[in-house]
Amino acid sequence: MFEGFFLGLWLGGVLIILGIEFYYYVVARYIEKDLTTLEATIFIFFLLVSITILIFPFRYNKNIFLGIFSIVPLPLVDLIIRSVVNVKEKTQQRVDEKKQLQNWLYTIEKQPENVNAYVAIGDIYFHRNEFEKALDFYQRAQKIMDMPYIMEKIKITEKELKIKNKIIWVCPECSFDNPGDIVKCNVCGYTKIDKGLFRDIKYQKKDLIKGLLFILLAPLGVIFFIALYVVMPPYLALVITILIIYLTIRFFLTY
Ligand SMILES: [Zn+2]
Repeated sequence: MFEGFFLGLWLGGVLIILGIEFYYYVVARYIEKDLTTLEATIFIFFLLVSITILIFPFRYNKNIFLGIFSIVPLPLVDLIIRSVVNVKEKTQQRVDEKKQLQNWLYTIEKQPENVNAYVAIGDIYFHRNEFEKALDFYQRAQKIMDMPYIMEKIKITEKELKIKNKIIWVCPECSFDNPGDIVKCNVCGYTKIDKGLFRDIKYQKKDLIKGLLFILLAPLGVIFFIALYVVMPPYLALVITILIIYLTIRFFLTY
């Protein structure tokens, strides 16, 4: 009797997580029109894989807890799709930039006094983090027409150049410009960590957390629910369950 009850709980817990995953990765994105047909097909295929993983241990009398791995495919596929899309977009962006650069260089050939062309080329080099070249084109633009917005670009580029050459570094905590040879921020005492990788992780943290949340926390969640029903009177456990489901759905709906 207990075993049936227990199995039901187990299945219910895993299915709730799968349901949230399906909502989060497919339904929500479909509503926001942030899902291509190919992506939807891949997600639905892997949802079927997930369900197979969940059912497999029951059918072949294996340890039913293996079914917990059914919550892994969707977040994993999401992470893979995101990185593929990211690489594709960056490549496309580079191709577009190259075309624009060629067009603007051609414009300068025909109209050597075209300020906009110099600024546009400067912007492209700036975006590529080629600050020396960017500065050169901004300065040429400024020579043709001395405008405040060009001066502003020159100032920003000069600062970026100083950062790139490690003459100064900007404190991520208080935005103060510190001399390059100092490790601790002069204003707030923040200690510099000079690792690009660390900074990347900080920027992508939100996405990473969202993806790994399910993989890491979901099993704990299921164990928590089971413990809840073992320890507490069923009606109390039920109230807590409904509350948590409500809060979880609210959390994902407002994300
Ligand atoms: Zn600081």
